[in-house]
Amino acid sequence: MAAQENYQPTKKAQAFLDKVENGKYNREIVMGLKRFISNKVPEEMQGFYSQEELQELIDLKDTNQDVEARMPVKITNHYYQIAKNSKAVRTLVKASPKETFDLDGAPDPGKQMTYSPLEGLIHKYELGLIYVTNTCSAHCRFCYREELIAKKEIVREDGTVASKGLANIPDLVEYILDHNKIVAENGGRHPETNREKLREILMSGGDPMVLTNKKLAEWFSALADAGIDSIRVGTKELAFYPDRFDSTFFNMLDDLHAAYPEVQLRFMVHFNHPDEFLQKDKNGNYIEDPDGGLVWIESTKRAVKQLASRKYITIENQAPFIKGVNQDSDAIRIMQRELKRNRINNHYFFCGRDIIGHKAFNLSIEDAWNLLNDSQKGLSGVEASARLSITHYLGKTEVVSVTNKPIPGVPGTENGVVIFKLLRSAADASNKGQVAIVGRNPEAIWFSGYEDRVIFDEAGLFTESMKSTSNVSNETHKQS
Ligand code: SF4
Repeated sequence: MAAQENYQPTKKAQAFLDKVENGKYNREIVMGLKRFISNKVPEEMQGFYSQEELQELIDLKDTNQDVEARMPVKITNHYYQIAKNSKAVRTLVKASPKETFDLDGAPDPGKQMTYSPLEGLIHKYELGLIYVTNTCSAHCRFCYREELIAKKEIVREDGTVASKGLANIPDLVEYILDHNKIVAENGGRHPETNREKLREILMSGGDPMVLTNKKLAEWFSALADAGIDSIRVGTKELAFYPDRFDSTFFNMLDDLHAAYPEVQLRFMVHFNHPDEFLQKDKNGNYIEDPDGGLVWIESTKRAVKQLASRKYITIENQAPFIKGVNQDSDAIRIMQRELKRNRINNHYFFCGRDIIGHKAFNLSIEDAWNLLNDSQKGLSGVEASARLSITHYLGKTEVVSVTNKPIPGVPGTENGVVIFKLLRSAADASNKGQVAIVGRNPEAIWFSGYEDRVIFDEAGLFTESMKSTSNVSNETHKQS
């Protein structure tokens, strides 16, 4: 497919784009450990890392356990203010030598390059995911896009080695139009891939909310003109820098809606812990709001209220469970209740991905399921809507249940079983909903931990999983 030089908006898009104003933001970002090491951070941030912590990180510099080569350090002032009073948030954002003790893991989690027909696009379902930027306002240490954010080189399908690139508007629009035309001419399925019409695009990266309003507006109008009827924005900006959701941004969204009323916007937000959005008193307790619920951080509350007040927007929270960050069923219960109360749906919790170094972050699959299950005790059905998902090479998979008792007469079930269900199949829509049942292994943090105890596998999760991930040597993962 020949790349076009520049994005040429349609007349309708241009009329919308002409109205867009960029906002002015001061995230007060500190980027790189170097700033902490040389004490070139604002006075109040000095001491965020102790001298001993810094020394341990310095000792690893330029070795194969260099922590920043795996994932660069980045934090906003807003997030620092929260981190000061939250161990969970500090663990999420502070680099630690533990991250590189064991570098086992996959250079391309979920084998995404297999599903990348175009630079910056992952096309698995009726939903396509695009990389529109390779950074966020701050960086989570556990990031499952560490290969993109740290600009690492990975081995591609054709054997070449290169870092992952970003999507561009003209090529993506051409791809969507071509794909949807072929699908329409072939009775609703693509003859080669069996995929349906592309009707939803998730803008991701990195965090699209680091882009200017004008750039976001170009993406939105181009996708709308290509016939996409749901645009998702994957963002953690409500936690890192909620002031990004200002009046210039909402004016742009309202103008988009006026020009393209058929397009839905879905904000896929990312809160790992209630400390990221709730205020605390001097004893570290959340504060009751006389109007009901708990008291939120003001700028976060304002942004959420604005989003939630627009009928063309839905808000869904999805977040991984991470060791030391949100391994706390009481905190997760409070989070689910408060989010739903404020019109944010609890969509998914994730088992950590099998990225390089994942053993420092991932809970075992069974611990993650127990955590979600415990956290949902005492919640109403609408509050407890989140499912636990783990991303298999074949598609998004739910950890449906972990049992404790043997199934009479079935060998391998002595300690109970784990039931997986394929929620969305990337390869063949016909196996959606199929299950796999395995004997328990409380230590397993990835599918590979169950390969020797498969009882029933109609979904094919364990015939394929060997190909997918884990046990991949770090030597294939060249860092630039
Ligand atoms: S917000 Fe998401 S993409 Fe950004 S650093 Fe965190 S996990 Fe990675």
